[in-house]
Amino acid sequence: MPLTVRVGQGFDVHPFSDDPDRRLVLGGVVFDGEVGLAGHSDADAIAHAVTDALLGAAGLGDIGQHFPDTDPALAGADSVELLRRAVAAVRAAGWSPGNVDCTVVLEAPKLAPRRAEMEERLSEVVGAPVTVKGKRAEGLGAIGRREGIACFAVALVTGED
Ligand SMILES: [Zn+2]
Repeated sequence: MPLTVRVGQGFDVHPFSDDPDRRLVLGGVVFDGEVGLAGHSDADAIAHAVTDALLGAAGLGDIGQHFPDTDPALAGADSVELLRRAVAAVRAAGWSPGNVDCTVVLEAPKLAPRRAEMEERLSEVVGAPVTVKGKRAEGLGAIGRREGIACFAVALVTGED
């Protein structure tokens, strides 16, 4: 059987939360002292975009189908654990993650000091290299006004079709 390569795309966005007790979690890493994002789970936009990219590459739908935000059991969920479950589903369907690349769009905080940690955490869970790049919105639009954080991800998987 020839090797088949597929790509998947993921996107996610979360607004910042008004709740001062919400932690900011990105790529499975907690940013202490920063304003958290609002969402049903821990609102980890990077983990969610990576999950959607991998599910899409494997033809397994999207994160909302697997982990509905109406499920009370997922309130405050650790999104890296949801990613781990999604990776297991991708592998069970016969696909192996090749790599995932992410672009996070945000004005603050600076990602660079925590980038290696995020990449290490996500790569361990995915079982393949995951790279994370930060990009400012240059003051344009909602992200530029510091109302939230968005993330784009592209994933490659290989398998036998
Ligand atoms: Zn999300």
